[in-house]
Amino acid sequence: MNIPFIDLKTQYTHIQEAVGARIQAVLAHGQYIMGPEIDELETELARFAGVKHAISCSSGTDALLLPLMAIGIGPGDAVFTTPFTFFATAEVISLLGATPVFVDIHPRTFNIDPEKLRDTVKRVKREGKLKAKAVIPVDLFGLPADYDAIEAIGQEEDLFILEDTAQGLGGVYKGRPAGSFGQAAATSFFPAKPLGAYGDAGATFTDDDALAEIMRSLRIHGQGIDKYNNTRIGLNARMDTIQAAILLCKLAIFPQELKARQKAADLYEVALSGLETPFVPKGYKSSWAQYSVLSDHRELLQEALGKAGIPTAVYYVKSLHLQSVYAGFGYKEGDFPVSEHASQRIFSLPMHPYLDEAIIAKIGACVTETLNTL
Ligand SMILES: *Cc1c(COP(=O)(O)O)cnc(C)c1O
Repeated sequence: MNIPFIDLKTQYTHIQEAVGARIQAVLAHGQYIMGPEIDELETELARFAGVKHAISCSSGTDALLLPLMAIGIGPGDAVFTTPFTFFATAEVISLLGATPVFVDIHPRTFNIDPEKLRDTVKRVKREGKLKAKAVIPVDLFGLPADYDAIEAIGQEEDLFILEDTAQGLGGVYKGRPAGSFGQAAATSFFPAKPLGAYGDAGATFTDDDALAEIMRSLRIHGQGIDKYNNTRIGLNARMDTIQAAILLCKLAIFPQELKARQKAADLYEVALSGLETPFVPKGYKSSWAQYSVLSDHRELLQEALGKAGIPTAVYYVKSLHLQSVYAGFGYKEGDFPVSEHASQRIFSLPMHPYLDEAIIAKIGACVTETLNTL
């Protein structure tokens, strides 16, 4: 028996006809770049995230890059973020010549710790070497970051907040949807994300009209009023029309899928009594991009699960401050103990909307059995 970590094949059986029809429509009208499906998707996405503007683009990475470029982030600027995330979160900061300044995470939510953020921003301002410009909180594994606290710090310290909700779309924080926090938010439609395309794609969200206009220009080579009028240096960062067509089919079933993910998480919670299961604070809803647990016996459990045909993965093996590319910053082991401790003990189990109860029970039994041998 081969249990998938993420089951896109089963999902496809549910949307096959709709996807086929939508792709055929694109092939028939032939507007492969910026076709009508792009507008349609942007309208639906903005509604879903509860914001004025959704700007589709080529990846989650470009969705992060566009707002940072739009506000002119560059050399000498400090952008605060977590070391416990996918590399792209910090990469976009470095790509613009700015400096990522890491802030440790909360031990249970794995998201940026607001108290430590405040302390770090104050320290950077005191030192005076870098200009404190922006913060990128990440909605890790689908759980929104603590936005009441982060938005308060953003106001106090005059920071631009860019929500990295690449994993978080579909999550909720105190009644507000993921994608609606800060001045802008970025999401990814990489196939394995909760809302995935059949290739690379992403979107940026904002309520700010002026910012939206600049990002729309940056997405197409910094274009002005027409194709051959360039007003700034930009990117080729458009989403393909075909991906928008596919995403429209997937978005239609996304609310149901989020419920199914929540049900799987609830079943896991009961089945995995011997592990530290995910913590979802009151008033939060996760999109369950990953179901990540903590154990001092990770290797043993991964091996036992693997033998039983159950795939697992480790997000993230190495905190970003310890990546060789950032060696020049002089960070060392022990600088972000919460993040480092998590990376030593964390692993993720299969999670998707088509995970059935019997498989979760099997995973639970395998974990219990393995822990009983200790
Ligand atoms: C996936 C991911 C990204 C990058 O998205 P791509 O679409 O792969 O470029 C950025 N940040 C986080 C937290 C992610 O998980």
